[in-house]
Amino acid sequence: MLNKTLLIFLLLLQSDLAVSETLAVSKNKSDAIVLTFLGTGAPRPSFERYGPSILVEAGENKILVDAGSGMRERIFEVGGFPLLTSIDTFLITHLHFDHTISIPGLWLSGWLYGRRIPMNVYGPSGTEKMMEHMRKAYQWDIDYRGIVGVPLQGSKLTAQDLNAGEIIKVGSLKITAFAVEHMPVNIQSGKSLGLRGDTLGFRIDYKNRSVVFSGDTRSTDKSKLIEFGKDVDVLIHEVQVPSPGNSKEAKLANVSLSVHSTPEQTAYILSRTKPRLAVYSHIIPPGTTERQLIEATRPFYEGPLTVAHDFMKITISDEIDIETVERIGKQSFEDSNVLDD
Ligand SMILES: [Zn+2]
Repeated sequence: MLNKTLLIFLLLLQSDLAVSETLAVSKNKSDAIVLTFLGTGAPRPSFERYGPSILVEAGENKILVDAGSGMRERIFEVGGFPLLTSIDTFLITHLHFDHTISIPGLWLSGWLYGRRIPMNVYGPSGTEKMMEHMRKAYQWDIDYRGIVGVPLQGSKLTAQDLNAGEIIKVGSLKITAFAVEHMPVNIQSGKSLGLRGDTLGFRIDYKNRSVVFSGDTRSTDKSKLIEFGKDVDVLIHEVQVPSPGNSKEAKLANVSLSVHSTPEQTAYILSRTKPRLAVYSHIIPPGTTERQLIEATRPFYEGPLTVAHDFMKITISDEIDIETVERIGKQSFEDSNVLDD
């Protein structure tokens, strides 16, 4: 009898716990922004750090910030065909190949395997032109697949150039584009080398949560990141560690220090913005270790800081949770159930 009473009490206790945990989770996380780091590297090939690309999910919204190499495969690893076919929005920080090379991969794969709405690409000036060229480059592929029976809805690629300061709404997300400093300059004088174009950072707000993407940028006291990153929940910042030595290769690698940020320079931005969490991603060179980056930053910045790795997942809510996303691995298209009847 005693045992039976105890058992009922324990069952009640367990079910109470289960309910209150579920309620707590849904209450706290319904406003969450979830970030999945698909690639945390830069132009240099790496098996550990694919090219820069971060999936942002908030409510029903799914947006990719940048489209680095291997992005399509990373999306497939974390979400199979349902994820591959459900993303229809890119935010592109600038037109360097390490940020754009996977746009056609997802645009066309997503369409081929089931997306039936256009792919939309937002980016700096020149984005519309680049997408027009991509459409032309793959028109034969689209015509071919259309003729053999792939529905043409979803094969469309639309683009919009964004100006700094422009705000766009995607669902209940508010996205603010701002200018960052990544255009080529004379290393000695700091003067522009005259190339036209823009590079952007983005701030995304959803309910009371916020995240800022630095884009590729050097860090100066004029950086717009200081304004747009102020008190943000999560600030994702690029970083470059100087290559040692005097080889021709090291010298070439270090040319880009004039348009990127060292850990010390990034610390300058972080100490002025004070995010709830700072995250390094777009790591140059990709073999730089977490320890190297933290040690190089710590003398200048003491706030919460982590180094992203591919498959890292950050959930921004009352708490900021960091975990590694589960990979669902290979999935058969035939069993994926992604096509409407
Ligand atoms: Zn880059």
